[in-house]
Amino acid sequence: MIKFRSVALLAGAALLGTACGPEAAPQEPEKQLSWEEFRASVYQEPWEDGVFIVDNDIPLATEAELREYFEQSLKGEVGSHAGGLAVYYSGGQDIKWQGSAALNITYCVSTTFGSNYSKVVSAMASAAGAWEAAGKVDFIHVSSQDSNCTSRNGNVVFDVNPVNTSQYLARAFFPNSSRRSRNVLIAGSSFGNISPWTLTGVLRHELGHTLGFRHEHTRVSSTGCYEDAQWRGLTPYDSGSVMHYPQCNGSNNGDLSLTNSDKSGAAALYP
Ligand SMILES: [Zn+2]
Repeated sequence: MIKFRSVALLAGAALLGTACGPEAAPQEPEKQLSWEEFRASVYQEPWEDGVFIVDNDIPLATEAELREYFEQSLKGEVGSHAGGLAVYYSGGQDIKWQGSAALNITYCVSTTFGSNYSKVVSAMASAAGAWEAAGKVDFIHVSSQDSNCTSRNGNVVFDVNPVNTSQYLARAFFPNSSRRSRNVLIAGSSFGNISPWTLTGVLRHELGHTLGFRHEHTRVSSTGCYEDAQWRGLTPYDSGSVMHYPQCNGSNNGDLSLTNSDKSGAAALYP
């Protein structure tokens, strides 16, 4: 039986949060949580229709999805899937952009970033470029929507918005998320000193989720950061993956960057 990591690690600020740096990895004792305890521990974004955040930067839109996540985590066993990138796998299929949708992943960048707007536009373009160079995907910035860049804007696939939280540096979504949850939200702390990471590195990780890639550290139990078994390995396990939290026994000590294995995995999913 897989147990949940501590409440603090699950719901709080580990990587892509601000509490600890990449090398600070407080290993707190594992604890079996009831649904009620788990539900109470999960951070919910504090505005109308705010989503639930699990695994530090993954949004779930409804309580039903949260319950499903909880049950999956309880019954899940660490996958033994043969081969470092893993795609979200649920209901017998890969969760990915199908066909031409992969070449038309449009987004807006909210002008409410103010003085950080240009920085975000540039970091998004650079992070998107890293994945575009690896797999047959195309992120397209539709700047004409930037002044109306909300989660209700149906003219783009997703929106990029600032958020005022200390729960994470940034969070993203998966290809099967509803439009309302399809946001890349960037906290103000991401514009401060997050060395050895950069905003671009954080967005490389987040855009990996938007393509369907799971946290690499959920693949082996020795990371101490198991999430659930809803994934399919695309390459052998890679402790240096851009999708691996460094503090989960990862080997990536610098910025979050695509490894050769990440590039192979992206090419395998989006040939
Ligand atoms: Zn993540």
